[in-house]
Amino acid sequence: MKKWEEHVRRVVPYTPGEQPNCPEMIKLNTNENPYPPAPGVQKALEELQADSFRLYPDPAASELIDGLAEYYGKGRDCFFAGVGSDDVIAMAFQTFFNSEKPILFPDISYSFYSVWADLFGIPYRRPALDEEFKLVKEDYFAENGGIIFPNPNAPTGIYLELDAVEEIIARNPDSVVIVDEAYVDFAGPSAMELVDKYDNLLVVQTFSKSRSMAGMRIGFAVGQPKLIRYLNDVKYSFNSYTLNLPALKLGAAALKDKAYFRETVEKITATRERVKNELAGLGFSFPDSRANFIFASHKSCPAKELFEALKEKNIYVRYFDSPRINNYLRITVGTDAEMDALLKFLKEYLKE
Ligand code: PMP
Repeated sequence: MKKWEEHVRRVVPYTPGEQPNCPEMIKLNTNENPYPPAPGVQKALEELQADSFRLYPDPAASELIDGLAEYYGKGRDCFFAGVGSDDVIAMAFQTFFNSEKPILFPDISYSFYSVWADLFGIPYRRPALDEEFKLVKEDYFAENGGIIFPNPNAPTGIYLELDAVEEIIARNPDSVVIVDEAYVDFAGPSAMELVDKYDNLLVVQTFSKSRSMAGMRIGFAVGQPKLIRYLNDVKYSFNSYTLNLPALKLGAAALKDKAYFRETVEKITATRERVKNELAGLGFSFPDSRANFIFASHKSCPAKELFEALKEKNIYVRYFDSPRINNYLRITVGTDAEMDALLKFLKEYLKE
């Protein structure tokens, strides 16, 4: 080992889902939206002038933040925007999780949380989900340096009702509670409605799933102005110009079309419910997902084998080789045609 290597900050990085680039594939592995963004996004893209790239983008992301404030009916000082919710959550970890006490998040959850905690030297504890993969709210009534959980949870898809979420927030007035709502538009009410009531609540959402814009990298947080100011102080100490100009323009355009948004979300949830029925008929069991994916385990065929067999056929799903979940596949809800192809393959494969 070279001398300089002694001082390298070493981390075990997060492994993102594969992004293979083959035209024939059915891509159900990273919870992307199978439908295009709202038509207004295409129009805004066509109106972009390359010459505008000469200048730095607005560091305050005003156009996007104004759009969010209007869409959600809250003050613009309640919003913070970043390069996907990954960027927003990473900033939030750095800003709010700065205590000697461990932060808490579920043992089965978004696997990026432990990576950020390790990177930033934040101690953490991971209370176990129960046997049915449900979050046990009482586990979050213990002393802590902060709390984060996704709702719906990933990769299980289980949605925690808002009264339980509120209880966790209310029982922790001395720490910041981050509710990661990457998938909430497919699920139920957002904790955003609790923001006015609790100064320790930060709700994080993304344009990557329900708004079909994973490639644009847009995420945002909602909280009381004081929390948002602290978050901005850290952002401006790291990188002033996080969101690029196209992201600001196209994100704002996406927010203008509520009808398209609702329609797309409804299509995906309808497909999800249909696929749940079909998967159950094929011998799969799964938690009752309220997200745009289904976390399924087959009664006899190991998940890893199915994962490999699907990949052979260019059908990509996600498999996590981690304790408690290594016999499950996380299957993103695609179009009806994509899901039919998946089901057809499974039917034939499981018959053999
Ligand atoms: N939170 C959860 C629970 C997720 O599954 C994801 C998607 N990988 C993210 C946050 C980050 O999404 P993005 O950075 O695309 O907004």
